[in-house]
Amino acid sequence: MAEEYDIIIIGAGPAGLAAGLYAARAQRKTLLIEKNVTGGQIALTAVIENYPGIEEINGFDLGQAMQSQAEKYGLEMAYKAVTKIEPEGKRHIVHTDDGDYIAKAVIITAGADYNRLDVPGEERLTGFGVSYCATCDAAFYKGDKVAVVGGGDSAIDEGLFVTRYADNVQVIHRRDTLRASAILQDRAFETPNMDFTWDTVVEEIQGETSVESVKVRNLKTGQISEIPVSAVFIFIGHTPNSSFLEGLVEMDAGRHIVVNEWMETNVPGIFAAGDIRTNSARQVVTSAGDGATAAIRADHYITDLDSEG
Ligand code: NAP
Repeated sequence: MAEEYDIIIIGAGPAGLAAGLYAARAQRKTLLIEKNVTGGQIALTAVIENYPGIEEINGFDLGQAMQSQAEKYGLEMAYKAVTKIEPEGKRHIVHTDDGDYIAKAVIITAGADYNRLDVPGEERLTGFGVSYCATCDAAFYKGDKVAVVGGGDSAIDEGLFVTRYADNVQVIHRRDTLRASAILQDRAFETPNMDFTWDTVVEEIQGETSVESVKVRNLKTGQISEIPVSAVFIFIGHTPNSSFLEGLVEMDAGRHIVVNEWMETNVPGIFAAGDIRTNSARQVVTSAGDGATAAIRADHYITDLDSEG
């Protein structure tokens, strides 16, 4: 028999952990299912300095703190992968790779995964100089020259972290202006060992057993050149983890789940919050806010459902 819950939350990033805190404090029997590690994307974030009230914290530590706070109020955790959600009367069956559960309300906070460049050498050299996580790997490249690909907040934030170790960080960006916020741009331009290669894309990542260079193409001149580096850190955005929800809820063209201001999807009893939802601001604080909103609404939804009998 599938175990029954009031609320099942899928994904233990800031949205899921905040939803877990609010659902547990509403005294709903709540299970949070995570396929990987607590924290989601922030588990790989070196420094968070824009979560109100906390001047600076490591992302992994913030995730752990959110989890233990929610567990204090009775949140249960399960580490498995959700494969499918199906309706069962007015409830929902949550299938995983290790058993099924039933819930009155489901909050989907499965987040997003980093994008790949999809160029030759990228997959082969992942873990051998190709990285998607500065916190994890920057220290391996002390005194080296490394490349960072992308021009958004992640590229600059993580790139600045890499400058603590590498002698030189070469940011390779496909345009001639950064997308990153003004404060990060200022810091980047003031950092002596961070340089920029504008209007340029990576065509290939080269190296026998580890990264030795990147082959790049200037989009304005068409010129191909090679930059010798011992690592390539790639930060070119994210794709929502919504493939297991195909056909269940309405999604936008980018496969983000469409919700209203209460984080309600088009299916009664199913909510979505954080990076997986449409129009997310994709910040820790906004995701946590989304998660709290979803849990408050799910609590009201269950009260109404129970009174219908
Ligand atoms: P993003 O804002 O979508 O930026 C992605 C960057 O990668 C853009 O500069 C984009 O270029 C470039 N790019 C995309 N596809 C590419 C490709 N195939 N080849 C080369 N370059 C490519 O993603 P993000 O930086 O991961 O940030 C995601 C969200 O998290 C944002 O809302 C951001 O504000 C937030 N965030 C905030 C912080 C912070 O506040 N400290 C830190 C990290 C992330 P174009 O500019 O030309 O599109």
